[in-house]
Amino acid sequence: MAKTLRVVYCSSEVEPFAKTGGLADVAGSLPRALKKLGLDIIIFMPKYRGIRESKDLLYNEVPVYFIENDAYFDREFLYGTKEGDYPDNLERFSFFCRKVLAKLKELNFSPDIIHCNDWQTALIPVYLKILYTEDSFFTNTKTIFTIHNLAYQGLFPAEDWDKLALPKELFNINGLEYYGKINIMKGAIIFADYITTVSPTYSKEIQTPEYGCGLEGVLASRRKDLGGILNGLDYEIWDPAKDKSIVKRYNKRNLKAKAINKKFLQSESNMDIGKNIPLIGAVGRLTDQKGWDLIADIIEQLCHMELQIVILGLGEKKYHDLMQEIAQKYPRNTSINLKFDDQLARRIYAGSDFFLMPSKFEPCGLGQLISYRYGTIPIAHATGGLVDTIIDYNSNTQNGTGFLFKTYNSSALLDAIKRALNIFQRKAEFENLKKKVMELDFSWKKSAQCYLELYQELKDRAIVKV
Ligand code: ADP
Repeated sequence: MAKTLRVVYCSSEVEPFAKTGGLADVAGSLPRALKKLGLDIIIFMPKYRGIRESKDLLYNEVPVYFIENDAYFDREFLYGTKEGDYPDNLERFSFFCRKVLAKLKELNFSPDIIHCNDWQTALIPVYLKILYTEDSFFTNTKTIFTIHNLAYQGLFPAEDWDKLALPKELFNINGLEYYGKINIMKGAIIFADYITTVSPTYSKEIQTPEYGCGLEGVLASRRKDLGGILNGLDYEIWDPAKDKSIVKRYNKRNLKAKAINKKFLQSESNMDIGKNIPLIGAVGRLTDQKGWDLIADIIEQLCHMELQIVILGLGEKKYHDLMQEIAQKYPRNTSINLKFDDQLARRIYAGSDFFLMPSKFEPCGLGQLISYRYGTIPIAHATGGLVDTIIDYNSNTQNGTGFLFKTYNSSALLDAIKRALNIFQRKAEFENLKKKVMELDFSWKKSAQCYLELYQELKDRAIVKV
């Protein structure tokens, strides 16, 4: 039998310790799924304020190591305040990356694979190839860098270079330099042994100028070592049959109980109660990326239609302002919740008929997968992971799992919403659709297996020195 793969999983957020978005969900569940497949896997993350355990701990069988430095991580937020990013993020996360490598030696954990995620951990492949090249401890270590969102690259002024403890020669067009600035993510794209994105479609999209955020050239140059593996969803954490945050638990065999959750959501939102009025939920960041420019365009129109809207999210000020205005103007058919609230999120997934996700781009997206799990039908833009997980509903054949629009504009979004509302009126057909999406399987099982195969393939690869 092959030797157990030793893997280090590095992430700046891990559910249930710290979360701002989907990365935390993935980092909290993929390592566990890999552990079940027999891997020797450990997790590293920063020790932020609020993580009470002072020592490292086991989370569902996976050891989690916290990198400590109170000056850097004992703060109210993870990356910054409403006013913007913390100005010392480069120091904070380069410190984290260096410490991870030092700590591995301390632990005598010589890994086959270090799996890094997003720019905050992107310096690990760089340090490994540049600073540890002669170190036999890491001779057989390969790195994977996963892009969860290319829009956040970790850009810093050139003056900060010395803080990285890297040779000056690396600050050039073939290294970490990017239009006169330091681009941390570019470093990982160049130095990691393999790059993944969190859906196959997004891995292709980012090689084009439209989606490449300026890095399309570098990404295309690595296309042989670039692929997409769809995120899974943790089916134990997200399960309407076990969810303690919802008023009535249910599964695909007693979908009637979902209606009780709808009623509760309507009531807690101070909206009219009734099962015949379609309820559209939205949970997520209120940003342009998530399609809020389109929602803003048509929100008044929607409020005049026979439907209800419940929104939960935090994001850009212009959307907060607009939504507050909408809440005041249309209190009876809208519920606007500008906060982060995991339990309310769950009640929205359970109580809604439809889930709105008109993202301009979407590396994978978890919202649509959670919706499926709760029997809620997604309405989404045909991009990235949304294309890989949603089949557009065809009312003639009754084939499909959601409502997609292709062209990114508000009238196309409105059309998709209208198509969805039409099906809502056909009770039996809509019931079937809900049941069907609850039967889909987007658990980690398949995806974790794909990572395992990739790890194995990389481990067996010859070592390339730079
Ligand atoms: P992102 O690009 O933000 O990572 P995803 O769809 O991949 O988007 O994941 C978002 C995750 O964060 C989901 O689990 C979603 O339910 C959760 N989430 C986002 N905003 C909020 C909020 N305001 N309150 C509670 N949960 C939220």
